[in-house]
Amino acid sequence: MNLMLFGAPGAGKGTQAKFLIEKYNIPQISTGDILRAAIVEKTDMGMEAKKFMDEGKLVPDSTIIGIIKDRLAESDCKEGFILDGFPRTLAQAVALSELMSNMGISLDKVISLNVPDELIVGRITGRRVCSKCGASFHVEFNPSKKEDECDYCGGELIIRKDDNAETVISRLNAYHDQTAPLIDFYTKMGVFVELDGTKDVSEVTADMLNALS
Ligand code: ADP
Ligand code: ADP
Ligand code: ZN
Repeated sequence: MNLMLFGAPGAGKGTQAKFLIEKYNIPQISTGDILRAAIVEKTDMGMEAKKFMDEGKLVPDSTIIGIIKDRLAESDCKEGFILDGFPRTLAQAVALSELMSNMGISLDKVISLNVPDELIVGRITGRRVCSKCGASFHVEFNPSKKEDECDYCGGELIIRKDDNAETVISRLNAYHDQTAPLIDFYTKMGVFVELDGTKDVSEVTADMLNALS
């Protein structure tokens, strides 16, 4: 199963990806997580990407497409994968189509989690992420069982540097200007499914699994 989770920053893609990993036993490919790992490792790519991320701007397509090309070639992607936060531009979407067609595979579904902008700021400012596995929690809407500790791996929960009210605005602008045009692209491809992302986490999961069955 080759899936993509689509939606604004903070729509719940990472949260729902965790359930798909368990259900289908396929890896989540989050370009955001890969970039943050490169920043921790202080690679050249990470240091370059950091400038864009801290400002809430998209990292250049060439960098992102290179990351995805390498990642899809890894052996754990053979049975499928869950794309999370990629593609975010038309150029990335076209590159993905080309890559997948060269691999002889295609996208089964693009699941869009629809959440209006007014709700996004609260989601992002209350987000806590695991410093070890990247799992996402929310202080109010989706709290971890133990404060500051990841339910999945026990890692420490932290606030992402870009999760503040100022960058949210530019990230939402980037979403509407550069990413939203993909809705048309994937609708025409016949794989686009829209879900109400404002429901509770468990209800969104149920709707998503229903859409995939
Ligand atoms: P969120 O879902 O909250 O926006 P992500 O972890 O997906 O967070 O992305 C964090 C940042 O990483 C983005 O604001 C952007 O700077 C960069 N990034 C992640 N994925 C991409 C991508 N596919 N194209 C360009 N930039 C990306
Ligand atoms: P994305 O990967 O799309 O950027 P996340 O999965 O990290 O988004 O979710 C953003 C924030 O919103 C997190 O704090 C998460 O716990 C919370 N969240 C996710 N899904 C829901 C939901 N259905 N209702 C309320 N809060 C949610
Ligand atoms: Zn964790």
